[in-house]
Amino acid sequence: MPPPHRRTSPSPSNAPCTWSASCVIPITAPSMLNGAVVRDGRIEHVGDREWLVGMLRDNGVPFTETHVDGVLMPGLVNAHTHLQYTGMAEVGARQYANFPDWMVAFDVVYDAGPQDWRAHAAEGARMSLRYGTTCAADVVTDAEAASALHDAGLHGVAYWEVMGWENAAWRERGLTTVNAQLDAMPTSPGVGLSPHAPYSLESAPLLELPDVARRRGMRLHIHLGESHEEAEWSGGQRGELAELWKSSAAGSYTQMRQGGGGFSSTQFVDQLGVLGPDCHIAHGVYMTADDRRRLRARSTAVALCPQSNRVIGLDAPPVAAYLEEGNMLAVGTDSLSSSPSLDVLEDVALLYEVAREQGYRHEDLARRLLHTATLGGAHALGLATGHERVGQLQAGAVADMVFIDVPVTSIVGTIEAVARHGAGRQVATLISGRVRWARPDIVEQVGPVSADGPHVDEGVAL
Ligand SMILES: [Zn+2]
Repeated sequence: MPPPHRRTSPSPSNAPCTWSASCVIPITAPSMLNGAVVRDGRIEHVGDREWLVGMLRDNGVPFTETHVDGVLMPGLVNAHTHLQYTGMAEVGARQYANFPDWMVAFDVVYDAGPQDWRAHAAEGARMSLRYGTTCAADVVTDAEAASALHDAGLHGVAYWEVMGWENAAWRERGLTTVNAQLDAMPTSPGVGLSPHAPYSLESAPLLELPDVARRRGMRLHIHLGESHEEAEWSGGQRGELAELWKSSAAGSYTQMRQGGGGFSSTQFVDQLGVLGPDCHIAHGVYMTADDRRRLRARSTAVALCPQSNRVIGLDAPPVAAYLEEGNMLAVGTDSLSSSPSLDVLEDVALLYEVAREQGYRHEDLARRLLHTATLGGAHALGLATGHERVGQLQAGAVADMVFIDVPVTSIVGTIEAVARHGAGRQVATLISGRVRWARPDIVEQVGPVSADGPHVDEGVAL
């Protein structure tokens, strides 16, 4: 592929920039060959390059232009990761037999002693930029890691993770503790609350944590359907879920399961009010048709993390069923403690394979997966609409973008190439219109690269 080139018209430093590519995939509008985007912190216009450049010239607007041979699309949204575990790549590099097997390996490293969570999270943020991620759902377990998104100028939500509470301790000091922890979180770019999983919290905290988040206007995020034990379990079933809630076994998911309930973890957290349009779940592997229906009924999106599932030795998520049934989907890499990479497009490529293996035959697969990895993620984080919207190339949206070096053929063929072979081929990442990472050989063409965080200008009038 020929090297990208930069042409610059003489213009004042605050002139709008026109970014063009051989193919532009706006997600919220039809893709186009030889398209362009005008930006000035926010996207001002998206359209055919010749037309757009001609319009600027006709209006006497001075501008700069950067063209890249390849694809321009919205920055990727990593809808489930733990940036602080970036230093635990030795755990994620191995293959495990099942969830408990992986958990043992994880705990050995996590419990080995204090780690520099802040530095590891910062490194994860740098890797994210390199792979074209501009927005992330970052689950934070240790407070030192809380400012990674903010410090790197990434968009997204830092979710404070809560786990390990039993009912008695929770009633004594749970609310005070968690409220203090949330007060200490950086408010930019966004803060959310993540009750870890149905098996790591008893009923009282799982009931109250969503209320805590919602009173504060925060997003919710939970690991759900990640282990076999969370699947609907009919062996030894003695009662309905509603009956079990009235029994002495209602203290936790584990107790209720031991009490003989034939229900899933999704039914359990749904009864507690965790699910909703302000909540998205991670993994969603062990989900029955009824579980998937509940997610749709609550408008709850699923962040699929197939690479992590494979490393841990789980089954693949039911992506074909989710797509056929119309669940809201996003893509997450999870962390390097259970995945080989923080490249969202690696998970997209695996989702493509898995969907085909599971029998999804429609021609829209690649297009839907790119939607999932951008606007789907933005939706999961509550960032698909409003003034700070991302995941789309659309007038007024924040100018978060990625250039990808894949051969441009037809529009359909190019979308297919990004979904299946785009991983590792990102060449430049822009956040709020500023270049935050560029492949070394094209820095001169697209630069300068900004080292610090976002800077949003208001749009320019054409
Ligand atoms: Zn996770």
